[in-house]
Amino acid sequence: RLHKIGKMNNSKVKVAVRVRPLNQREKGLNSECVVRVNGNQITLLPSISCKEKDRKEPHIFTFDNCFWTEDRPETGQEDVFEHLGDGVLENIWLGYNVCIFAYGQTGSGKTFSMMGTNNQPGIVPRICSALFNKESNDAETIRIEASYLEIYNEEVRDLLKSAKKQNKLRVREGKQIGPYVEELSCHAVQSYEKIKLLLDQGNKQRAIAETKMNEQSSRSHAILTLTVTQTCNDRTSGAFRELVSKVSLVDLAGSERSYKSGAQGRQIKESCNINKSLLTLGLVINSLAESSENKKSQFVNYRDSVLTWLLKNNLGGNSKTIMLATVSPAADNYQETLSTLKYADSAK
Ligand code: ADP
Ligand code: MG
Repeated sequence: RLHKIGKMNNSKVKVAVRVRPLNQREKGLNSECVVRVNGNQITLLPSISCKEKDRKEPHIFTFDNCFWTEDRPETGQEDVFEHLGDGVLENIWLGYNVCIFAYGQTGSGKTFSMMGTNNQPGIVPRICSALFNKESNDAETIRIEASYLEIYNEEVRDLLKSAKKQNKLRVREGKQIGPYVEELSCHAVQSYEKIKLLLDQGNKQRAIAETKMNEQSSRSHAILTLTVTQTCNDRTSGAFRELVSKVSLVDLAGSERSYKSGAQGRQIKESCNINKSLLTLGLVINSLAESSENKKSQFVNYRDSVLTWLLKNNLGGNSKTIMLATVSPAADNYQETLSTLKYADSAK
């Protein structure tokens, strides 16, 4: 079944890039740093490890934001939230659906950017915290519900249910409510502390498969969904109305190609499923970017992957989409960095 992407979205997809610092391994290997950031412009310099055709010229891309935290790593998380989070919150209060993706190869900083650590919280806990800190608003009451799931090999798992109670969950589609996951647990949260507990619980449950790239490599997509319902008192009519915003915060599986991570057997199937969902997501986002420029939008089959199917109502329509592409600055990741930047570039 084909779904035409709505024309209502008149703001482009916002695309940001974040470069992580060189890690210990790369420093130990004296790995060359091949990325430069200047304002919103990112340059990938030629290096000995790149293909013949890339050796002569640097690749230059411009995005809405480029984050580079090497010089002041302690403010990195704050910077990202300041530039992306504020707009997100504004849209939530206006009742738009919001979607943030972290896209990039394993080890490039997706989970760090989304979740972060206790000392350096990422964009997700910062958004959650801000949701409970709303001061100036017209809403009488705000109700927040959370669910947290993982898509692994095209199967959906509830990250907020204990592993023992885990069933394979089915995706269904309702005429009114759109795609949803049957039997997915949904938790009313009254405080930041409560939602933080749920996040920690879910993060622990994320599937981990070892690859050569990174021992904690994540081969799954994780989607945290917050449903924010504001009850507002209409001053003129005196009637109450509800404003509902669905917020999807998505930590995608690693975008690297299987040959590099030395995948075998089961992992090759994983890689195919991952590539398929990232490819479909790319098509969806491309056509969003195009429809916002009133170009002819293409038909995309959202149901080609579970990821895009579940996000159908969070992409296009009255939704605001942000893509955060994460990259490594090291020469030995040149090819993956280039392909991440190209993917991000096509989403603009
Ligand atoms: P991914 O989720 O993309 O596989 P991670 O977020 O787990 O990658 O990052 C890999 C490692 O690099 C982690 O140890 C993380 O703390 C570190 N890291 C990633 N991005 C940054 C950053 N911007 N600043 C500091 N450390 C980072
Ligand atoms: Mg990760």
